[in-house]
Amino acid sequence: MASHKGNVPDPRSKQAVKPWCLQDFEIGKPLGRGKFGNVYLARERKSKYVVALKVIFKAQLRKHQLEHQLRREIEIQSLLRHPNILRLFGYFHDEERIFLILEYAARGELYKELQRVRYLPEKRAATYVSCLAQALAYCHEKHVTHRDIKPENILVDLQGQLKIADFGWSVHSKTKRQTMCGTLDYLPPEMVENRLHDHTVDNWCLGILCYEFLYGVPPFEAESQSDTFRRILRVDLSFPSTPAISAEAKDLISRLLVKDSSKRLSLQKILEHPWIAQNADSTSSCA
Ligand code: ATP
Ligand code: MG
Repeated sequence: MASHKGNVPDPRSKQAVKPWCLQDFEIGKPLGRGKFGNVYLARERKSKYVVALKVIFKAQLRKHQLEHQLRREIEIQSLLRHPNILRLFGYFHDEERIFLILEYAARGELYKELQRVRYLPEKRAATYVSCLAQALAYCHEKHVTHRDIKPENILVDLQGQLKIADFGWSVHSKTKRQTMCGTLDYLPPEMVENRLHDHTVDNWCLGILCYEFLYGVPPFEAESQSDTFRRILRVDLSFPSTPAISAEAKDLISRLLVKDSSKRLSLQKILEHPWIAQNADSTSSCA
C-alpha cells in the first residue's frame, strides 16, 4: 500500500498544471453500475496508480436536475481526508460525461459482505462501528453531515478497511436542514416526519447499522413502506433471541435509536461505550 502510494502524483498540483483527461487513464473492468453511469477500474498511465473511475452522463444528471447535488458531492468529498472516507482525487469532463477519480476499494460494498456472512461477530461489528464513529466525528468537525449511512454506501478496500462513500446526500452546513433523503430503513424519525434535522441523523444511522451488523436485518423492517415509517416513529425496537447478542451491544443500540435527536449518544461517547471499549480492535488502523 505504502510503496504504491508513493508513486501517486499529487492530484491537486496536477489539476493546477493541466486538467486530467480520459487519455491519462487505461480503463479496466467495470466495478459496478451507478444510477447515471458505470464505475470502472482504471490506471493512471504515468504513475500506474490504480483508481476507480466513476462515469456520469451529463444528460441523465440534467434530466433529474441533480447537477447541483453532484457539484456539492464533489466539493465535499474532495475536502475530506480520513482513512475511513473514500478519497476523491479529482474530476474532469468531456461533452457528454463527468468522470470522478476515486480511491479504489477492491472488496466492493460492505452490503455484499453482509449478505454473504448474514451477520458479523461482535468484535468485528464493534471495530466497524468504532471506525465509522471516528470517520463521522471527522466529518461533523468539518460541518459535514453524511445523511445516507448504510451498508450500500460503505466500501471495503483490499486490507479490509471501511471507506465511507457516496456523499451525494451530504450537506455542508451548520444549520438545521429540512429535505427528505436517505433510504427508508435507515431514515431517522425527524426525516420521516420531514422535520428539521442536523448532524445527529448520522448517529441514528450508526445505531441502525450496528443492529444490522449484529442481526443481519435492519430493526424496523416491515412489509410496507408505511409500516416501516410507523415502526421508526414509535422506535419499535426489539432484539431477537438469536443470534445471542451481549447486553452491552443492545445498550449501545438503544442509546443511538432515540427519537429525541438531542438525546442520542454523541460520537465521542460511542467510542467510550463499554461495548466498543471491550470489543473494538484498537490495533485495526482506522485513524
Ligand atoms: P447508487 O446510488 O445506485 O448506489 P451510484 O450512482 O451512487 O449508484 P456508486 O454507488 O458510486 O454509484 O457506484 C456503483 C457501484 O460501483 C458500487 O455499488 C460499487 O459496487 C462500485 N464502486 C463504486 N465506487 C467504487 C470504488 N471506489 N471502488 C470499488 N468499487 C466501486
Ligand atoms: Mg451508491
